[in-house]
Amino acid sequence: MNDNGRNWRVHLAGILGVTALVVLLYFMSRFSYLLFHSLIEFFSIAIAFTAFMVTWNARKYIRNSYLLLVGYAYLYIAVLDLFHTLSYKGMSIFTDYDYYANQLWIGARFFESVVLAGALLLAGRERSFSAWLPNVVYGAITLLILLSIFVWRVFPICFIEGVGLTPFKKTAEYVISGILAVAILSLFRRRTVLSPDCFNLLLASLILTILSELCFTAYKNNYAFINLVGHYLKAGSFYTVYRILIVKGIREPYDHIFREMTENQKTLRYQNEQLTEVSIRDGLTGLFNYRCIRERLMDAQHRHARYGEPFSILILDLDRFKLVNDTQGHIVGDAVLKEFSGLLTDSLRNLDIAGRYGGEEFLVILPGTGKEGARAAAEKIRLNAEAHTFVNEVRMTVSIGVASYHEGGPDEFISQADANLYMAKHAGRNRVAG
Ligand code: GH3
Ligand code: MG
Ligand code: MG
Repeated sequence: MNDNGRNWRVHLAGILGVTALVVLLYFMSRFSYLLFHSLIEFFSIAIAFTAFMVTWNARKYIRNSYLLLVGYAYLYIAVLDLFHTLSYKGMSIFTDYDYYANQLWIGARFFESVVLAGALLLAGRERSFSAWLPNVVYGAITLLILLSIFVWRVFPICFIEGVGLTPFKKTAEYVISGILAVAILSLFRRRTVLSPDCFNLLLASLILTILSELCFTAYKNNYAFINLVGHYLKAGSFYTVYRILIVKGIREPYDHIFREMTENQKTLRYQNEQLTEVSIRDGLTGLFNYRCIRERLMDAQHRHARYGEPFSILILDLDRFKLVNDTQGHIVGDAVLKEFSGLLTDSLRNLDIAGRYGGEEFLVILPGTGKEGARAAAEKIRLNAEAHTFVNEVRMTVSIGVASYHEGGPDEFISQADANLYMAKHAGRNRVAG
């Protein structure tokens, strides 16, 4: 399955899952509103807490101050919302006072909207504060909100059972929506400092929060349908913030690290290949160098000793090559050497191994080849060279000494081929001996 297919399925599964959850929670609310409220709030709290945990643990990788400030804030929002959930009517935990739940709600939403809007002032700026500073400030604000509600009881009453929302609560929800609207405006002004997916998610989150707030200006009792919708929207807005932080704190840094790692690996592999090439190839002709061809010769001998595999070698020396250098210069001499190497490779089979053994001397290993085959191969090379016109109209012939498999070491073996080459030279050059 390709990536698109997989993404599509994942999205569909997500949509179905969320729909099932919404429907399930709705039926729960019909059975017990308190159960619905507790579950959806615990869900939001869990998301908010996770958003904080992701931010805290990925703070090294999150470059954007805005996301850091928002991510940290969700811990304190989670704490306020936890108190809100625990003090909700019917929970029978805080029985001394009727007004906590709505006060805590307003406190939490006010804090949330101020952070979402205020932190935008720092959006895109490289982080310049320690991780502890915003947490200390948030912690102090949260403590003040809790004290003003639970201890000092100076927080205005928001909802009176049987009467409905107080003017303060309605005004507060509008103010909160106003702050969030300002946040949306400044988000648009700063859209360039945020990545497109981050911008979209943030916008969605702010819109969901505003819609959620507006739901809470309209209800007459805590169990009204609009209250239920408001809670859904709030959970949705929390989830979008959490998504942003996952994308920024985990997915993008991972992608980045993974991309870098792959790049580094590619570079290393390439460098390694280059190094290997340099260490085994002759710089001028591209054939195997002296060291490498010697190693290959040892290998061939080992294979012969173990499996009895026949093999032969050829030593080639260009005839009167010095004359080319003397009459045409070294540059042309080099070009002829290169051209001869190409001609040599073209004259050989795939399995044969050719190396530059010295200045204008070459060594060829012919695996699986006996004396007759080796002579034939040498003859073919010789004829090809003789028939070829090299650069600058240079004509060049080659003398070749042949030696076939032998029990002795490589030196002995090469001496034998060398002796044959010497014979070929003495017999008048441009010939094969051995
Ligand atoms: P012959 O082998 O037929 O006896 O004659 P020759 O002229 O080839 O004699 P010899 O092997 O003594 O000389 C080889 C010459 O090849 C000497 C050297 O200047 C030249 N030579 C060796 N390596 C290189 C090289 O890399 N580039 C060039 N241009 N010349 C080289
Ligand atoms: Mg020579
Ligand atoms: Mg020579």
